[in-house]
Amino acid sequence: EPEEDGPTQKHRVTTKGSDVPQHIDSFEALRERYPVPQRLLANLADNSYKHPTGIQSYGIPILMESRDLAAISPTGTGKTLSYLLPIMSNLGSPASGSNSDAGVGVRAIVLAPTRELAHQIYNECLKLAVGRKWRVILFSKATASTLGDKNVRDKVDIIISTPLRLVASIQEGNLDLNNVRHLVLDEADRMLDSEFLSQVQEIVAACTHPTIQKAVFSATLPAGAEKLAMGMLRNPIRVVVGLKDT
Ligand code: ADP
Ligand code: MG
Repeated sequence: EPEEDGPTQKHRVTTKGSDVPQHIDSFEALRERYPVPQRLLANLADNSYKHPTGIQSYGIPILMESRDLAAISPTGTGKTLSYLLPIMSNLGSPASGSNSDAGVGVRAIVLAPTRELAHQIYNECLKLAVGRKWRVILFSKATASTLGDKNVRDKVDIIISTPLRLVASIQEGNLDLNNVRHLVLDEADRMLDSEFLSQVQEIVAACTHPTIQKAVFSATLPAGAEKLAMGMLRNPIRVVVGLKDT
């Protein structure tokens, strides 16, 4: 469980990059600075998320301001919410909503190295999505096949997937990623190792929207993976959270 005492109590946070947005000390402070839908914040409260963790405190404003981010923070420090909250906030209305002005087709992709991790992210996403008509898809052979229908495809907001499954759908021509505005690599150390790298690169190449925001999250980022990550990101900010007593 993340710390209860506020983000700076137990964690040392360092940032690198230009014009790093001011971190937030509370979830309420978010709403003062950004148009975060009230429902999202209510869903946080309903899940007893009282204070942002270190990576949330720094990472959420960076992503809210449309910057690319490389975030390194230990396991269990709430990295998932750090990217899901900004994505769901920035996407505004679900694509199926009547007043959607964000175009159609999948607008956010989260990649994770295993199906189990993808499933955990999906569950976290569903908690945040309560009360809004988000279409979140945990990508599998079965859900991928439903995307053959354009009416289904156009109403998908967020896809959470392993790389291989997504690449298969791209190659089958069943998935148009031109409208993807947010791409996250979770467990980025693994996503950028030799097992997944070429698949990840294929997905990145398929996401052609000019203002796509990219972010990588990991507990560790070895030099080789970090170099690859920095090559993928545009003018990124790097945030490192370390335990103070280590
Ligand atoms: P990480 O990806 O860094 O390993 P997770 O995103 O899986 O961490 O979060 C770890 C746990 O902490 C999850 O059960 C999550 O629901 C919970 N959690 C995340 N952020 C908060 C918060 N601000 N307050 C309380 N619990 C949180
Ligand atoms: Mg995680």
